[in-house]
Amino acid sequence: MNRYDHRYADPDSYRQRRRGFDSGRGGGRGGGRGGRHGGHRDDLDNLSLPKQDFGNLVPFEKNFYVESPSIRAMTETEVKMYRARREITVEGHDVPRPIRIFQEANFPDYCLEVIAKLGFVEPTPIQAQGWPMALKGRDLIGIAETGSGKTLSYLLPAFVHVSAQPRLVQGEGPIVLVLAPTRELAVQIQEEALKFGSRAGIRSTCIYGGAPKGPQIRDLRRGVEIVIATPGRLIDMLEAQHTNLRRVTYLVLDEADRMLDMGFEPQIRKIVTQIRPDRQTLYWSATWPREVETLARQFLRNPYKVIIGSLELKANQSINQVVEVVTEAEKYNRLIKLLKEVMDGSRILIFTETKKGCDQVTRQLRMDGWPALSIHGDKNQSERDWVLAEFRSGRSPIMTATDVAARGLGRITVC
Ligand code: AMP
Repeated sequence: MNRYDHRYADPDSYRQRRRGFDSGRGGGRGGGRGGRHGGHRDDLDNLSLPKQDFGNLVPFEKNFYVESPSIRAMTETEVKMYRARREITVEGHDVPRPIRIFQEANFPDYCLEVIAKLGFVEPTPIQAQGWPMALKGRDLIGIAETGSGKTLSYLLPAFVHVSAQPRLVQGEGPIVLVLAPTRELAVQIQEEALKFGSRAGIRSTCIYGGAPKGPQIRDLRRGVEIVIATPGRLIDMLEAQHTNLRRVTYLVLDEADRMLDMGFEPQIRKIVTQIRPDRQTLYWSATWPREVETLARQFLRNPYKVIIGSLELKANQSINQVVEVVTEAEKYNRLIKLLKEVMDGSRILIFTETKKGCDQVTRQLRMDGWPALSIHGDKNQSERDWVLAEFRSGRSPIMTATDVAARGLGRITVC
């Protein structure tokens, strides 16, 4: 099970929902848009949205952060210690200090009242650091898991943002757009929004596939300050002109990694072309692979980055790890001694840092009579395939590899 599956009680219901999660055409038809997971998305990809003219944009307010005196009074060491204790890592220019208690964020009273009613004791780490960043009106990359309190990290600043903008008039679309990969997540986000928004008269709606369009269209036409949407259904709504994104000044991409994994990138790009470039963008992801980073670089300007916990790979607990520190000159002899100890017909994988090192070790091993072959980035695909087949079959039970080459192998079991 991956980290998302806990939301689904049984796998069939998960699959069913996945199939219908973002059916853009016709309520409940369930035409999946699985991206890399397959599905029929050509219809959506062919839709073209009107080109927007972003000349003569009326400026809008986006910096609402007032540092509280208690935060100003913290020493640099206290700031560092707080971040370390709560596993907060920050990047970017002019990063604001984290807040430690709800009152230090300067949210409107109704927010504090709802927080108190919900019984929250203190801000979660992502809130402590994310709130001052988001309230400053700057773009933000947040690396945090679902369950970390990230939804309120962007929703409470969103309420502050909305309250400072001119009221919506007839025919205007939302001020805040939250894109989410699935309707389940979209609904969860709206539940959080409703807890706070109802106190401030800030309306929100959820736009997702696999549900009748009628009520969603009604909400959009009536006017809502916050739209939480899955990409496919939103494109349908934009194309049919049930709404528009000309008033959006606060854009959230939630679970960006998962949206990319589900193949939503072209749709996200299409949606973003409809939004003014000087918007504030908040980009959330639980992981930070290259594609997620690339998209962030294209959509965000001078962002803050906040990471909660560690992005480092954790050691697999079921593998006994032994670390020995030896000099360069001792390495080969130590390797031979180890091979003599462990070589019992099972397969052995040796990683080297460089391709050159990989070739050298392999050559030496073969000269010394060990059945070793190597793979690395300079070998062509057919050679790699052959080496891998020899290794898998046990005909050549020792394989040397650079970790980069080995990463492309997928899962190999070394016994
Ligand atoms: P999320 O990561 O946004 O999905 O939030 C997970 C859950 O944590 C939600 O039910 C939130 O209402 C709750 N939550 C958010 N902030 C806090 C907090 N500061 N203290 C306790 N629970 C919170």
